[in-house]
Amino acid sequence: MKIGGLQKISLIDYPGLISAIVFLQGCNFKCPYCHNPELVEPKLFGPCLDEKEIFKFLKMRKGKLDAVTISGGEPTLQKELISFIRKIKKMGYAVKLDTNGSQPQVVAKLLAEKLLDFIAMDIKAPLDKYNNAVKSSVDQEKIKECINIILQSKIPYEFRTTIVKSMLTEKDILKIAGDIKGARRYVLQRFVPEKTLEKIFLQEKTYLEEELERIKKRLEKEIPSVIVR
Ligand code: SF4
Repeated sequence: MKIGGLQKISLIDYPGLISAIVFLQGCNFKCPYCHNPELVEPKLFGPCLDEKEIFKFLKMRKGKLDAVTISGGEPTLQKELISFIRKIKKMGYAVKLDTNGSQPQVVAKLLAEKLLDFIAMDIKAPLDKYNNAVKSSVDQEKIKECINIILQSKIPYEFRTTIVKSMLTEKDILKIAGDIKGARRYVLQRFVPEKTLEKIFLQEKTYLEEELERIKKRLEKEIPSVIVR
């Protein structure tokens, strides 16, 4: 496992639970506004953390932490992901997976084995604009497949979009709502231009609060729970 980082505690990442976050190295997308360049750009990779240390930490925190979030990078690219999560589940922790949705077969396998308790899938753009949004060649069918797997799953989930103004218009965001038709929960994440894969995005203008409120109201006509954070 290529473990690039560990956040020992988060009160906000896993809705309703106290979690640790394990960050895995490597991603097949190159979203220019990505705020974890050190997990995406190989030349920025730091030394990997030892898996044994992660389990030692989790053993020590039993009773204080409820859950572990597996994030990245893109976790589903790692061959040992399933066995890694099995071990965490065996310890009694709830597991949340963050994914870009490019490996639906991995998500399906994890769900079939009941290894996930929450899943968060990033929706980068309307399906027909994906390649441009993530600066990589994306199989849109796989993204669609992953959306459907999550919609049909029995576990809590969220779809979420980081709303980068120069890349996503209001119309695009409403189009995404069509791509995730039937979703119970959709999160609009404010873009914070602090650390990005491409430096130009540090100068990005963000959506105003009143614009976000208007978009939220329009989305609520189609999705029961729309959250801006
Ligand atoms: S935002 Fe997520 S999917 Fe995009 S490059 Fe960064 S880690 Fe990969």
